Amino acid sequence: MDCKALDTVKCQKTVQQGVKKLYKQLINTLFPPLCCHCQTREWVYVCPVCLETVFSYPDVCFYCRNRSWSQNVCEECVSILDRIIVCFSYRWAIKSAIKALKYKDYKAIIQPLIQKALRSQPLDQYDSSNTVITYIPMHRRKQYRKRWYNQGSLLAKELSKQTWLPCVNLCKKIKLTKSQTKFSRNKRKMNVYNTFTLSKSLANHIKHVIIVDDIVTTWSTLSTVAWLLKKHYSLTSVVWYCLARQ
Ligand SMILES: [Zn+2]
Ligand SMILES: [Zn+2]
Repeated sequence: MDCKALDTVKCQKTVQQGVKKLYKQLINTLFPPLCCHCQTREWVYVCPVCLETVFSYPDVCFYCRNRSWSQNVCEECVSILDRIIVCFSYRWAIKSAIKALKYKDYKAIIQPLIQKALRSQPLDQYDSSNTVITYIPMHRRKQYRKRWYNQGSLLAKELSKQTWLPCVNLCKKIKLTKSQTKFSRNKRKMNVYNTFTLSKSLANHIKHVIIVDDIVTTWSTLSTVAWLLKKHYSLTSVVWYCLARQ
């Protein structure tokens, strides 16, 4: 494609984006967004009053649910992940907010959600000199055909913005897998085997990787990614930062 043609495509795209933005603004003015939970307060995607009602998840080991400092995986429960941080119980406003993000494209919900999550489970002990944030990638075809965006990456970018820890895309999904929900545990493991590959190399001084996700569902996917990271880098810990658990 020559320069002139490239400029025309760019110009068309900018115009399209501009029209889309205007259309969205018009719809928002005519029908202001309502809080996804109480459906009464206008101009917010999730209102602060509803967010005040959510429960922080207790400090327990993810597997045995015994008390554990900072939600570390306890010594009895050996896992590829060193710490699994769950911010909230999957109930009330959190349930509505995650559903709205998933199915209604309410991206504006991410900022207040992450803010609330960090108040409940701060990441103060991690430093930008030795920690990075990442997310589970989607297969390119699925991302562009079905949803257009990967909510994990949006959550990771927002978490990075609010904590100053850098966000990097560390791996790539190379195999398109079937939906995991109807599979047994063993079949899920088989389904994700050899699905991911590393896309970027990690500097030697990075010792902690925080993987961000919205809800605890993709267990086999996550352990595969954690295993891949630990196999290739000398990491002290791989942490899973998850917004909610059922
Ligand atoms: Zn509300
Ligand atoms: Zn345990």
